[in-house]
Amino acid sequence: MQISDRVRLVGSGRMGFGASHPLDCNVFLLDGGTEHALIDAGSGIEPERIVANIERAGVSLYQVKHLLLTHAHGDHAAGARFFRDRLGLEVTCPAEAAPWLEQGDLGKTSVAAAMATGFYPEDFGYDPCPVASPAADGDTVAVGDLALRVLDTPGHSRGHVSYLWTEGGQTALFGGDAVFAGGRILIQNIWDCSLQEYAATIHRLDALDLHRLYPGHGPVILSEAREHVRSAHLAFESLAVPPNLM
Ligand SMILES: [Zn+2]
Repeated sequence: MQISDRVRLVGSGRMGFGASHPLDCNVFLLDGGTEHALIDAGSGIEPERIVANIERAGVSLYQVKHLLLTHAHGDHAAGARFFRDRLGLEVTCPAEAAPWLEQGDLGKTSVAAAMATGFYPEDFGYDPCPVASPAADGDTVAVGDLALRVLDTPGHSRGHVSYLWTEGGQTALFGGDAVFAGGRILIQNIWDCSLQEYAATIHRLDALDLHRLYPGHGPVILSEAREHVRSAHLAFESLAVPPNLM
């Protein structure tokens, strides 16, 4: 599904548009001109549905060269190994989370905790996946003729980054689970979720004056994204907690 000049939605689960497996996060395909990048990988359950969506969009699988992960939770990163092997993608992962992905660490990625709640099925697999590029704050990632800046955006989890770029002269962000439409956030009772870090991240995103937001779940915001971030920021500023996504 083409959602802007440069971005297609090729995966999305029950917290989004139902374009692929229900447990998938939003998976975006970014058109860098000479090459494309996947933003996040989904849950790794029935990843062929995402491949079919790429092909249906008329993009050659050979043109997809990169996988940029926002964090290593199962619904975003458990599909990484499949796409690395099947499409030969170069995997970029937040530096702190890179060893967790490379080891398929069910504890650090909170997959074990989520499995205990029944969020993931009992046979859920999280294949270890080699990381080509650990992404640190301030790094630039090139996708064809586009340059994306890496921002550390912890709070929802540790080892969480967002990718900031310029689309048609205006700011756009692949935000993972940092912030959602309506200024929602995603706090969970897991080891690495931090309300204080979340507030600092929202403060940082508020200063970016975002035009577009491509979040890890739910609707994409194609204009005035700053207003959505602002409402989360104002909640934190009043010592409250923004509404939670689930
Ligand atoms: Zn997450």
